Amino acid sequence: MTRIDLVNCIQKMFRTCQGCKAIFPIMKNETPFIEGSSVNRYGVSSPECIVTFCKILEKEQEWAGYPEIHRLFIDAYAVQHPPCIEYQKKLGINQRLIDASIQSIFVHLIALYLAFEKNMPLRNISKRIAYILDIGVKLESIELKPPNHLGDMTIVDIRKTANFKEYETMVWRWAKSAWDAWQEYHTIIEQITRSQEVTKQ
Ligand SMILES: [Zn+2]
Repeated sequence: MTRIDLVNCIQKMFRTCQGCKAIFPIMKNETPFIEGSSVNRYGVSSPECIVTFCKILEKEQEWAGYPEIHRLFIDAYAVQHPPCIEYQKKLGINQRLIDASIQSIFVHLIALYLAFEKNMPLRNISKRIAYILDIGVKLESIELKPPNHLGDMTIVDIRKTANFKEYETMVWRWAKSAWDAWQEYHTIIEQITRSQEVTKQ
């Protein structure tokens, strides 16, 4: 076997997730993208990444039911799977869902901003975001250029956790690295959140 054959062979065994760039062994029974399904409706996660996501959520539920850290787990995962419009169009995802995927990124970045910059208790974040959405801010109209590097950790690091305490610690670290990766958007996110505070007064 030549070196090129070997490289080709390895490439056929692994797949890189379009979103988080984590590399997974290719699953044999691949679940295709299903438009409108709640899991991976934006199409930017590889099937292997989505399966990992679902397995961790099962483990989380087993360990702790519906813990507060669930919020950060979802936020970290979401901002590491930003829209890639060209790729989404190739998959046949409709514009409504692409717009929703852009809005979704900003929602999850706002959540991370509230958690890390405002030290808001995780249980209060969803309510705050619901308020921002109620005001009707057009998050999908903000220009979105995701960073090339989305953080030093991915869901693969979370998969390795062996108990709930470890899981919590790792999710905090993962979410922080994902938030830091979006540094160019920190000011925009702060402005969006502040403008809602002004509206509220
Ligand atoms: Zn991924």
